Amino acid sequence: MNDTIAAIASGMTASGIGIIRISGPEAFAVLKRIFLPGRAADREEGEESGQETGRKARGETGGENDREVRRADPSVYRANTIHYGRIRDPGTGEIIDECLVMVMRAPRSYTTEDTVEINSHGGPYVMRRILETVTRSGARPAEPGEFTKRAYLGGRIDLSEAEAVMDVISASSDDALKASLMQLSGSVRNRIGEIRGKIMNELAYIEAALDDPEHMDLTGYPEELREKLIRVMEEIEGLSSTFGEGRIIREGILTVIIGKPNAGKSSLLNALTGEDRAIVTEIEGTTRDILEEKIRIGGMLLRIIDTAGIRDARDQIERIGIGRAREYAGQADLILAVFDSASALDENDREILRLIRGKQAIVLLNKSDLPVSLREEELRRAIDEETGEETGAGTGAEPDAGTEPGTGQGTEPGAKDTREDTRERVPIIRISAREMTGLRELESVIRNKFFSGNLRFGEETLITNVRHFNALKRAGESLRLVSGSIEQGLPEDFFSIDLMDAYSALGEIIGEEVDDDLINTIFSQFCMGK
Ligand code: GDP
Repeated sequence: MNDTIAAIASGMTASGIGIIRISGPEAFAVLKRIFLPGRAADREEGEESGQETGRKARGETGGENDREVRRADPSVYRANTIHYGRIRDPGTGEIIDECLVMVMRAPRSYTTEDTVEINSHGGPYVMRRILETVTRSGARPAEPGEFTKRAYLGGRIDLSEAEAVMDVISASSDDALKASLMQLSGSVRNRIGEIRGKIMNELAYIEAALDDPEHMDLTGYPEELREKLIRVMEEIEGLSSTFGEGRIIREGILTVIIGKPNAGKSSLLNALTGEDRAIVTEIEGTTRDILEEKIRIGGMLLRIIDTAGIRDARDQIERIGIGRAREYAGQADLILAVFDSASALDENDREILRLIRGKQAIVLLNKSDLPVSLREEELRRAIDEETGEETGAGTGAEPDAGTEPGTGQGTEPGAKDTREDTRERVPIIRISAREMTGLRELESVIRNKFFSGNLRFGEETLITNVRHFNALKRAGESLRLVSGSIEQGLPEDFFSIDLMDAYSALGEIIGEEVDDDLINTIFSQFCMGK
């Protein structure tokens, strides 16, 4: 980790400014080899054209010269200052670009090392030329994520914060950005730290008592530990349970739009995206291909898949579409089922309804601007008939709802009815895709379905990363083993092993107790220059 690395930190497309970042003990030395600070650059050109005499004639003093020497030597630049100048190829003497250079000193930089950021013009070619010059002058090209890896190895951030850096970069909705920023400011680290602290206390106590049985008595301790563990397990469970919501915030809600031909699926997609992306036509069955469209509504990200209408397929292409519609309906987090309120309910509609069995769905009664042929009450009855789960009298047994963590609140089976009340799981909203009405309500129904609202107020630590989720699960399992040992009346040193396992599993989240392979895998998924 002692060498000096460099990479282009900005995107490789033509843009106003490009940033080449250098980090490591040689960062200033590298800069010195290639940088002509503003004044020195001017003078060099001045000398060539004989203007230096003019400078002398103006009576500029030796003091000024001293200052120029200082300007010319980046190794004496003050931390967090910016300097104008040019990048020169030290081999050929050729000027490559005009730039501003930012200097940060260890340990107060992103990487905790001496860091230089060259702000050049943002052309891919010029940036590459500068990077080449930098790497020929004492730095080596950085690997993906290597700057952040150094920040982590330098102890400035923990692993959960490093991962949050990437999440901030890839965030594509307000919610995703907010969740990543909370993690970047240490929300996961703090919660994990608290829980680990509690486990460590118990480990230390057991250890001390076993070492010094004359002065420390463990009578009654196992019961006490069991009580404490219940609370710790609840905390872990609580954190894990945010993962469903967290995953959806990070990845978006995988949404599928279904409905018979001409119900208005493409029009709905267009209304939501605000652009004419899908092909809308009155000829039945034209939406043959599947379009995935990422759209943001109210800070949420929907990944919408629009599929071919569901009906008896007449040709091959359409059959593929319908097959996929079924497949996607099976995988989707949310189904938007579109019905045409201007035409009577038919067997195609009923088939659509059967696809939303056991799923989180919103029924959209479209074309509310036209005279009504399909009433809401009739549709509700059909929904109950086609999708309502047989709940049995108050058994509470539900095959499907709530098995995915957090993909919705599930449903409360009615205690007396034998059929589920579908109103909660399958709300109906009257919309007009043409007039763009009802879309606000759709937005708030989606939010209520998927999000607890804690994110809005920044109250809750959200687990968005599957690696964290799995580690939490393992920690919970180890603690359950401790409880089991207590129940079986096993000696105290049995507790320590599983407590230690739980402690280590939690440590993996923040990057303590992880091996190099895992670290390398995580950072290799980062983007170049970060
Ligand atoms: P799809 O086959 O389900 O994708 O349906 P389209 O989006 O292609 O819509 C079929 C026809 O219904 C088109 O002529 C649309 O303009 C029309 N349409 C869609 N939504 C509405 C609406 O809310 N009101 C009215 N009046 N017509 C609509």
